[in-house]
Amino acid sequence: MIFYLLGLLSYYKIRNKPVPASICLLFFGVVVIPPGTTLYLLLNKHWTFQALAFAGGLFCWTFIEYAVHRFWLHRKNNKQYHTTDHFNHHHNPGQIFTSHIKRLVIAASSLLAIWCSIFLSHYLFMPAGILSGYAVYGYTHVWLHKPWATKWLPHLQKFHMRHHCGETEKCFGVTFTWWDKLFNTSGTIERNISEKVKEVYLGNTKQKLIA
Ligand SMILES: [Zn+2]
Ligand SMILES: [Zn+2]
Repeated sequence: MIFYLLGLLSYYKIRNKPVPASICLLFFGVVVIPPGTTLYLLLNKHWTFQALAFAGGLFCWTFIEYAVHRFWLHRKNNKQYHTTDHFNHHHNPGQIFTSHIKRLVIAASSLLAIWCSIFLSHYLFMPAGILSGYAVYGYTHVWLHKPWATKWLPHLQKFHMRHHCGETEKCFGVTFTWWDKLFNTSGTIERNISEKVKEVYLGNTKQKLIA
């Protein structure tokens, strides 16, 4: 099955088309369900399996982040798209609509989930990993719109900048770029983004982007 799916992914790569949602989901299911089930059966045997379950949760988050951004926030048939927070963020990248309080609550919840996984039930390690991924995403997205990320997170910032500046249907990953590469939405051409557009991306000017 996995080889069949890898063959399909290569087909889309050769045709230079984005992999459709159904194949993305199927691929994720095939990659995650067998090892996930095995881990759950071994979870109470050794701490290594618990650490793997947490890492598995973080990995699952990267797919959720990619899939929600590409298939939900940018869904084609959304007539209300121009009224969504996501559209507004594209239009005005300096403004991020998740508040500091919400980010803090998510981060605190992920710490609580880790505590519950250690002291109450090891079966919570995977959900705790997903929640932690969500918390990391919240902060990473804010950082990618800061000027200092050019030095500290150059690759990720460039990638996210491309999503904001002319390649809205590409570069959906925020914390990791691997799903875009696998599902052929990372693009191939490195565009030169003008200094003026970069200033809008960083929120240093009141001007807005055409989303
Ligand atoms: Zn977007
Ligand atoms: Zn952004």
